[in-house]
Amino acid sequence: MLAISGIGTLVTNDASLERGKLGIINNAALVIGDDNKIAWAGESVNLPREFVGMATNVGGRAIIPGFVDSHTHLVFGGDRASEFEARMSGKPYTAGGIRTTMTATRAATNEILIENAQRLANEALHSGTTTLEVKSGYGLSVTDETRSLQVASTITSETTFLGAHVVPPDSKIDDYVNLVCGEMLTQCAPNAKWIDVFCDHGAFDVGHARAILTAGAKAGLGLRIHANQLRHGGGVQLGVEMGAASCDHCTHLNDADISALADANGRTVATLLPTAELCTRSKFPDARRLLDAGVTIALASDCNPGSSYTTSMPLVISLAVLNMNMTCDEAVWSATAGGAAALRRTDIGSLHIGAQADFALLNSSSHIHLAYRPGVQLINAVFKKGECVAGSLK
Ligand SMILES: [Zn+2]
Repeated sequence: MLAISGIGTLVTNDASLERGKLGIINNAALVIGDDNKIAWAGESVNLPREFVGMATNVGGRAIIPGFVDSHTHLVFGGDRASEFEARMSGKPYTAGGIRTTMTATRAATNEILIENAQRLANEALHSGTTTLEVKSGYGLSVTDETRSLQVASTITSETTFLGAHVVPPDSKIDDYVNLVCGEMLTQCAPNAKWIDVFCDHGAFDVGHARAILTAGAKAGLGLRIHANQLRHGGGVQLGVEMGAASCDHCTHLNDADISALADANGRTVATLLPTAELCTRSKFPDARRLLDAGVTIALASDCNPGSSYTTSMPLVISLAVLNMNMTCDEAVWSATAGGAAALRRTDIGSLHIGAQADFALLNSSSHIHLAYRPGVQLINAVFKKGECVAGSLK
């Protein structure tokens, strides 16, 4: 049992409270039960008497649900600092750099891959992320994709098979798609919850993406798609049509894509990854246009060694507000409840009664500071399943 009082701003994301989308309670208290779920949330003055004596007062600071980062590529070997440096000197970003990481990943032992992924997961945890989705996609062979998913499953239950990241250099695309849909899928499916495909210029076209997602669905995996990042194409509409949980990137969209996402009515979420645009000096996705059409948005880090080597969801929130015209409330919702929606989870991303007690204590009086103070470490403590896993309530 844990009770916390003196919370300046408590973001619950609990729509049933009728306190706006974020379900904000000011001067709040929170009680976590022995089952590590939220047992009580309300104003401090109403805290049930039995908890008053045991409550830790956090002096007016804010508590938010832990971030749900629904799009990362944490399993890889090496890094691509020199490619980044070249890009910052004017070379354009292409999908081909993935092959550089493929070589380093194939050369790395399982121990090295686990150590690297755990280091990044720990980094994410310290910046407030309590749930991570992790993809394979740098092995690109049956053996290396299989072990990538074994590594991913040591980090999270939200694992995604992304054998269809790019075609490895020694393969023809049709042969490789057959391999992904056949033996590779068979070997990877036991350690994967989701299947994903990079449907874009230089990667896989709509026909191949459809074949790969169809095979994944048959194997019992949920669907996700990298779509419309590098240029306009049919990926987003394919994702919606096939009932994918999320279409990710959504940088280049036309009116028909936006209507398709809006008509999905939250069943298919648009996951925006603004640090990918930041790190490739590309145009940001038009979040305002999506929100105004009624599309559900998740924000995620896309952490990967090529185009977005960050685990910081606070940075993602800053960019969404400062560069994508999202409000502070919208960005915080999309980085928490939105991420949960993109993973079709109702037990995380929110602090409603009965939710898993995953939350972060900020070093500020409100969640607004996450965007208002870009680049500043504002995460004072992180709780996962009711347990303090980083920092402290002090
Ligand atoms: Zn990605």
